[in-house]
Amino acid sequence: MAWFPTDADCLDYLEWLRWPDGFVCPRCGHEVGWRLADGRFGCAGCGQRSSVTAGTIFDRTRTPLTVWFTACWLFATQKDGVSALSLQRALEISSYQTAWAMLHRLRSVLIRPGRERLRGRVEVDETFIGGEEPGLRGGRQRGKKSLVGVAVEVREPKGFGRCRMAILPDASVASLHRFVAANVEPGTTVVTDGWPGYSGIDELGYRRDRRSQRAARLRGDDPFALLPGVHRVASLAKRWLLGTHQGSVDDAHLPSYLDEFVFRFNRRTSRSRGLVFHRVLELAVAHEPVRYRELILNPEPKKKPPAGRPGWGHPPSLERPPANRPWRAA
Ligand SMILES: [Zn+2]
Repeated sequence: MAWFPTDADCLDYLEWLRWPDGFVCPRCGHEVGWRLADGRFGCAGCGQRSSVTAGTIFDRTRTPLTVWFTACWLFATQKDGVSALSLQRALEISSYQTAWAMLHRLRSVLIRPGRERLRGRVEVDETFIGGEEPGLRGGRQRGKKSLVGVAVEVREPKGFGRCRMAILPDASVASLHRFVAANVEPGTTVVTDGWPGYSGIDELGYRRDRRSQRAARLRGDDPFALLPGVHRVASLAKRWLLGTHQGSVDDAHLPSYLDEFVFRFNRRTSRSRGLVFHRVLELAVAHEPVRYRELILNPEPKKKPPAGRPGWGHPPSLERPPANRPWRAA
């Protein structure tokens, strides 16, 4: 809050992140431009006018940047993140949709293209997530669940490294091979159970370490202890969805919640929350715009805004004047 008291300070920070060595035209790549009176830039090469936020997730936003920065700070610094409802309260904005869409835009930037795949020794398994409906007894009575692939680096002698999660269409050879290839570096030892969907991954360049659940049961061992890493990650993810988001995550948006969980898990040992904030904004100015209609492709956010001016007011800026020590004025 000391760093970003005004919307102009926030804009300058985004400019510094996006063009650390000065203006670069987003259209032609020309590096000479001038600042126009309205704060935008004109390109000396092609004449295009562009702003710091154009072509980023802040493109055409009508939410003041101080509100964005506060949302991003809460998103990045709270250990378990923040729900749309608590964000709406924290920002004191009237629109649940605005808070909901801001969080979804932040989630959508977390996956960096070309990020490194998992390596070393990696456990891979599938689990079912979602479909929790209050009032239904557990087990088979639950609502529709999604099949999720989980991969976790296992460290010697103990502990876990990074993880990856993704929705799988099914547990077939084709789906599981695609999941492993997308998330695990070839040459890695992949630890799986005896499911035939993993057969043949050695032909893709992996070493398979197959742990048979049946053999474990016959030995009297706990079959769930065969893949401790994936079970740990899967149960943390389920607990997080039920805790922070109260389980109100629909199928269509589950992938972006999984992205957020993976982002948090992989930074769980990061000591500087401020660096995570910096990183999210850095990804945000490097990410193309995400339109509201893309976010709501299927379902609308569940909660309706309070009656009155339903959800269309834009939140006021959170700008604060420089502190003038009111306690001394009295
Ligand atoms: Zn240009």
